[in-house]
Amino acid sequence: MRNEGNASKLIFVGNHICLDFINTQIIHKGRIVDLLRDFSHLVEWLAETELLDFTKSKETLRKLTGNPERERVLAQAREFRAVLRAIIERIIEGKPIQKSAIDAINKLLSNRIGYPQLIQARNGFKTQFYAESSEAIHLIVPIAESASDLLCHGDFSLIKKCDNPDCILYFYDISKNHARRWCSMNICGNRMNEPPETEIRGSIPSRLSGTKTYLFKRPPEFKW
Ligand SMILES: [Zn+2]
Repeated sequence: MRNEGNASKLIFVGNHICLDFINTQIIHKGRIVDLLRDFSHLVEWLAETELLDFTKSKETLRKLTGNPERERVLAQAREFRAVLRAIIERIIEGKPIQKSAIDAINKLLSNRIGYPQLIQARNGFKTQFYAESSEAIHLIVPIAESASDLLCHGDFSLIKKCDNPDCILYFYDISKNHARRWCSMNICGNRMNEPPETEIRGSIPSRLSGTKTYLFKRPPEFKW
């Protein structure tokens, strides 16, 4: 049963953090489902995307236990996600991005506190920004950075919505001929091409809470 019982699992099919964040809302059985059900899911998502260090994510959850700040930041994250969705929709429709959306990104970026560090990567070196998250709001600043990155350096023609009209997932098409149509074959491709029964595949251990089944394997680190 495609996707049955998996409506709560995080999905990483976007090839870009900004799009994966938008993809934390899915359609399941005809209804919008929010995968960020509470603050811990937001922290889990940040840890899985490596925007937040694993140790810090644990610390954050511990530090903010019972703190009303959790709800405030979660609400802001959801609100920002709606802004990002509107931006992507306008890009796909070839419309200019509204100034209020740019302002929302800049407002979050103004909270950016941290420092870059040199990291040894597989094929050389790269710099990585380490956010100093003294306040909970700083947790979602890297998402604004990823949105800024997409707007500055992305090829808008490669930002696509899944071809399934009932699906709301987006992805950055890095396939060889830029002919990708589906968020994933398992979720929508098989469904649209032929009828049904598909298996959920891919299972990787969650660093926060035991084993988690993914609808799709996490993509390799995205490179422009
Ligand atoms: Zn889809």
